[in-house]
Amino acid sequence: MYFQLIYFRVKGDSMLHTYIETDYAPEVCTLCNGSGCSDGGLCKACGGQGTVLVAQPARICHVCGGAGQSGDGLCRVCGGSGWARF
Ligand SMILES: [Zn+2]
Ligand SMILES: [Zn+2]
Repeated sequence: MYFQLIYFRVKGDSMLHTYIETDYAPEVCTLCNGSGCSDGGLCKACGGQGTVLVAQPARICHVCGGAGQSGDGLCRVCGGSGWARF
């Protein structure tokens, strides 16, 4: 979400825009498989939307292999979505 905010902030600036020319597209959240729910509540990875914005071209998170979980909880790199954000 942090990078997404930067993208929108500099969107109108043609010089800065060349550095952050990244497209984002919604991909199905792998943690909840698009249902928006996990563990009896809203999915922590997508906030209940079932999709997450992912920088294109979309890549699987290399840390968790797309599972969204690593070690004792959510993957810290992808936030549980299973997608590489950057
Ligand atoms: Zn989800
Ligand atoms: Zn991950």
